[in-house]
Amino acid sequence: MFNPERIRALFDRASDSDSERWRSVRPNMDKGRCTDCGACIEACPMATIAADGAVIRIHYEGCIGCGICAVNCRIHAITMEPSPDWRH
Ligand code: SF4
Ligand code: SF4
Repeated sequence: MFNPERIRALFDRASDSDSERWRSVRPNMDKGRCTDCGACIEACPMATIAADGAVIRIHYEGCIGCGICAVNCRIHAITMEPSPDWRH
């Protein structure tokens, strides 16, 4: 269930710490499937997905691992996977 307080807390955490360290999962974009439609750019609350020319890419710095991009990709080109740098 969507929890605004939880999301706000994640925003605060992302703004003042190293998200690569504390984020347990992160999105993986399958560029073999992605059509570069841009829907995930609009959906990302942290503005960490951007167009690199005509190609859409995820910039992991600042990504909170919320999964909203994956939910909003209609062709399921984004999957959430364990974050390789997670330190708990
Ligand atoms: S929403 Fe899906 S298909 Fe569209 S740019 Fe993002 S990953 Fe690619
Ligand atoms: S998981 Fe996706 S929507 Fe959430 S912050 Fe990271 S790139 Fe943005």
